[in-house]
Amino acid sequence: MTPRILSIAGSDSSGGAGIQADIKTITMLGGYAMTAITAVTAQNTCGVQGVEALSPQFVLQQVESCLSDIGADAIKIGMLGSPETARLLAERLDTFAGPIVFDPVMVATSGSVLADEATIAGFAALMEIATIVTPNLPELEALTGRPDIADGDMFEAAKELADRHGVQVLAKGGHAGDETQVVDRIASPSGKYASFAHSRIETRHTHGTGCTLSAALATMLGYRQPLTHAIRIARAFTHAAIEQAPGFGEGSGPLGHHA
Ligand code: PLP
Repeated sequence: MTPRILSIAGSDSSGGAGIQADIKTITMLGGYAMTAITAVTAQNTCGVQGVEALSPQFVLQQVESCLSDIGADAIKIGMLGSPETARLLAERLDTFAGPIVFDPVMVATSGSVLADEATIAGFAALMEIATIVTPNLPELEALTGRPDIADGDMFEAAKELADRHGVQVLAKGGHAGDETQVVDRIASPSGKYASFAHSRIETRHTHGTGCTLSAALATMLGYRQPLTHAIRIARAFTHAAIEQAPGFGEGSGPLGHHA
């Protein structure tokens, strides 16, 4: 089986994150990648120099073209580009039968802002229709309105978000204080809880980590793998990609998406 994965996300000209990271990840995991581009960024490892969002109607048209012909076994949503795009997608994908992974992208690893406040307000509607949302710590803080969530409180904050929107929440610990390991936690509205830990790699080359993880997760869910197993494989794939980072650029460089 070749899972058909639709990535709805922004383009990163430097190839490290966004649509480009998604296509590489999905392809390497044996899936078939389709894309609906929400915005085009001019960026490199040092930051984002420019952004042009596509019209929300044209984003939707790309989605429609893919779903009406090839179809999709799973969808990944990343950078949105505008609040209206978030709204239209939530409306259109409400009836999508397969899994939807929503990576609530707000800020690039370089620190550049990728979603304004109005777009972040539009995330609520997408969390309602998503299967799983994958915030990092700053995103979890913004989505729950709780500043400075301590490591020990991450699960409780994730559970609050899960209950509020009826969605599984994979709260990623990459930005947390622990210097030796990265601990991610999953909370679900049913009360199920699990945590996943691996050793932390000391590196500045983590551009596209969130994109890679969410695209890998969508691909594994597209293979109809159970959620916990899909998360384990997506984390292992991302960990290996960080280890294989080629070290390009002056800033936060791309991961290594190769065999
Ligand atoms: N989407 C796009 C288009 C981006 O350019 C970026 C980062 O630069 C992201 C998403 C998020 O990146 P990360 O996976 O590093 O969180």
